[in-house]
Amino acid sequence: MRLCPTFLLQRWLWLCVCARQWHCSNGNNCRLPLCVRQIWAYLRLMVDSLYYNTLTNSDVVMDSLMEPIFWMVDLLTRRFGAVFVCLLVILTTSILLVVYVVMLPLIINTYSASWIAWHMSYGHWNLVMIVFHYYKATNTGPGYPPTMKNSIPFVSMCKKCIIPKPARTHHCAICNTCILKMDHHCPWLNNCVGHFNQRYFFCFCVSMTLGCVYCSISGRNLFLDAYSAIEVHTNSLRETWSTYQTPPLMFRDKMFHTSIIYMWVLTSVVAVALGGLTIWHAVLISRGETSIERHLNNKETKRMRKCGKVYKNSFNYGRLNNWKVFLGVEKKSHWLTRVLLPSGHVPIGNGLTWDIYPFRKDMMPV
Ligand SMILES: [Zn+2]
Ligand SMILES: [Zn+2]
Repeated sequence: MRLCPTFLLQRWLWLCVCARQWHCSNGNNCRLPLCVRQIWAYLRLMVDSLYYNTLTNSDVVMDSLMEPIFWMVDLLTRRFGAVFVCLLVILTTSILLVVYVVMLPLIINTYSASWIAWHMSYGHWNLVMIVFHYYKATNTGPGYPPTMKNSIPFVSMCKKCIIPKPARTHHCAICNTCILKMDHHCPWLNNCVGHFNQRYFFCFCVSMTLGCVYCSISGRNLFLDAYSAIEVHTNSLRETWSTYQTPPLMFRDKMFHTSIIYMWVLTSVVAVALGGLTIWHAVLISRGETSIERHLNNKETKRMRKCGKVYKNSFNYGRLNNWKVFLGVEKKSHWLTRVLLPSGHVPIGNGLTWDIYPFRKDMMPV
């Protein structure tokens, strides 16, 4: 017998009608033969198995709808990772050029010896902190779970890598691998932020924000002078009928004013934007969470609240202890040698297991 599409459609519609009659009728007095009911049940199972999931909710539907956008962002981030890094290096170098060529001679010629010493020591400490932490954040691997058979406890399986995932491990779609204690994928580093380089990332954010705030405050008066000089010059060009004419700006003066305005605007904007991001990460560190865990913990808190229970983050050791664990501070002198000075020490723990507290009585989870 030849199976044409029209015939198949007719059979399908007939089955649907029969099944509806069967549903409407009493189960015990069903008029449909057993074989039809079995076929119907089998077809329903087939269709259900294609899309049905007990975990399907509005979040999953939204994620599925947004999947093309996520895919495009991931692709662009992967392709243009090196471009973002080059852009950051070029912008930072341009600000350094303005500081060294334009601002520093002014500071040396006009400020007192104590102010010159302050600017020289603070500025160079800040610069060393930025360069060191950026280099380490980009060149340090975030940490990867073992792919070979092992006895490390795990919480789930990664469906993409087909390996067990230890606690706090998540899959990065851009790196296409699992990352230990993954925080996020940073395009400005062209690297994932995870267990082994999160401290470098955070210290880079702090030192870059401090550097931008320093440039913004130090260059504020110069910016106001440069802005008014450019404004007066522009107005004088417009008002050619005016009897009062200001002398035209020399190319050197114009470049001087323009570079000061460029430096002040860029550092002020970055100080606000990066400062906000840094404060957000500081809040997460205080809570013993990563960016991904913040989202997951919020969902879990709401779910358990509905059940009348309170959710507790098992990686929260208390605010001060969280900072000690994060920064690797094990004794008082480490606040100087490991926090205020560049330090390449490895973080506490291996990123695979999180039973740090049994060895340290002062770090019991709260
Ligand atoms: Zn994975
Ligand atoms: Zn990544």
